[in-house]
Amino acid sequence: MTQSDRPGFATLAIRTGHRRTGESEHSEPIFATSSYVFASAAEAAARFAGEVPGNIYSRFTNPTVRAFEERLAALEGGESCVATASGMSAILAVCLALLKAGDHLVCSRSVFGTTTVLLNKYLARFGVETSYVSLADPEGWATAIRPSTRLLFLETPSNPLTEMADIRALADLAHARGCLLAVDNCFCTPALQRPLALGADLVIHSATKYLDGQGRCVGGAVVGDRKLVGEEVFGVIRTAGPSLSPFNAWVFLKGLETLELRMLAHARGAQALALWLQGQPGVTRVYYPGLESHAQHRLVGKQQRTGGGIVSFEVAGGREAAWRVIDATRMISITANLGDTKTTITHPASTTHGRLTPEERAAAGIGEGLIRIAVGLEDSSDIQADLALGLGN
Ligand SMILES: *Cc1c(COP(=O)(O)O)cnc(C)c1O
Repeated sequence: MTQSDRPGFATLAIRTGHRRTGESEHSEPIFATSSYVFASAAEAAARFAGEVPGNIYSRFTNPTVRAFEERLAALEGGESCVATASGMSAILAVCLALLKAGDHLVCSRSVFGTTTVLLNKYLARFGVETSYVSLADPEGWATAIRPSTRLLFLETPSNPLTEMADIRALADLAHARGCLLAVDNCFCTPALQRPLALGADLVIHSATKYLDGQGRCVGGAVVGDRKLVGEEVFGVIRTAGPSLSPFNAWVFLKGLETLELRMLAHARGAQALALWLQGQPGVTRVYYPGLESHAQHRLVGKQQRTGGGIVSFEVAGGREAAWRVIDATRMISITANLGDTKTTITHPASTTHGRLTPEERAAAGIGEGLIRIAVGLEDSSDIQADLALGLGN
């Protein structure tokens, strides 16, 4: 197929990866099997030797998992995808596949908290050192790169302040200095942002969030080229074993079918909420890429299709006022999860960022009055009414 014959995003999301079996099923089947049967001893030997393709054992490959991998690879525009048991095991697998003792990694300071624990507490033990830089400061990235740097790692937009990195500029920097760029695309998903097309080498997902979309399963994935992902990352997963279960793969496979519709609806709700919050008494600042006041608003519509589904805001009165807003809600769920049809509300300073020292939190811009909302798919008027209960007086 030529480029122009390529099906559109929604078609790929619905049609890729399913090879109908002899049972003529319309919906994708779940292959709940740990192993596979060979026609003969000779065939078993040939499969184990890698001389003929085919399934051997579900730690290596499973047809339902493969359908999810092929579908996500198509949506991200990558040659290969490897599914993992969680987003964290996707990040671990990338590190194990690409890094060795003595290597150095440059990471955005504003990545998911557990990612920094993985790098600082565990990878450091194996001689891999990490430097942290500010996401939106290209000079900082350039200065932090050393001869031993192998990988630049970032998430954009950031959690919870929705800062953005210029992916293309950082991909160019990485390649000019002999490094790879990995982007955790959890917040935008390929429906809003495709880092590989902007030059990134690897895309990482926590499928737990928007790919599932209804808060049911934990899982992850890595997307990239055949060598890095299809061989190197796959080698780690099949050996170390954080493989995705076929049931979870099936949930994500079905989640992808509605991904674009949901992401556009999450973003519409978030844009409406951000604008509404700007006019509320007691709200001193709203963080959302879709607002013209956002420092990197120029990247919206260019790098990412919309502002995304996460809105953060600050209330006057610090922790007490923030907790009052959170505790006054009757519908919105008080939970740190995101990417769900249900709107969630979090106080980052005392939960997701609670392990930082007050100085570290201040440096990261996480104030005591900050609240993060992952906007779900309920009616905007109901989300606003729920927040209004604790705002104002
Ligand atoms: C949740 C999350 C992860 C970790 O994913 P799990 O599926 O919980 O292991 C990594 N990165 C980002 C941006 C996340 O939000």
